[in-house]
Amino acid sequence: MSDNCIFCKIANGQIPTDFVYENKNVVVFRDINPQAPVHLLVVPKVHIETLNDLNDKELSAELFCAIKEATKKLGINEYRTVINTGKTAGQEVFHLHIHVMAGRDFSWPAG
Ligand code: AMP
Repeated sequence: MSDNCIFCKIANGQIPTDFVYENKNVVVFRDINPQAPVHLLVVPKVHIETLNDLNDKELSAELFCAIKEATKKLGINEYRTVINTGKTAGQEVFHLHIHVMAGRDFSWPAG
């Protein structure tokens, strides 16, 4: 747990949040500034700054499983996943998270 980290506070219950999905190690909640009709954030409870700092293989698998659980729960089977890693990639919150977006068409290549 990192003192000034908003996602630590959400994931560990200090900021009351409706979770779309939760298990022992991972939470999934809705992005406050959605970029699609459905925009979820899949977040480990433990503070990990970026994907570069994720060294736990079990937790890595749990994050992927949480994507599946949350999308299944919402009845979604087409979606885009994004992990911004570092400032130049667009990361603003330095607590690892996977964006899961759905409900509109997405173009590729991404800008
Ligand atoms: P990133 O730019 O990849 O670090 O994404 C951070 C995301 O966190 C952005 O899409 C924000 O809208 C979202 N966000 C920031 N604060 C909150 C919050 N309190 N609750 C939900 N989503 C948040």
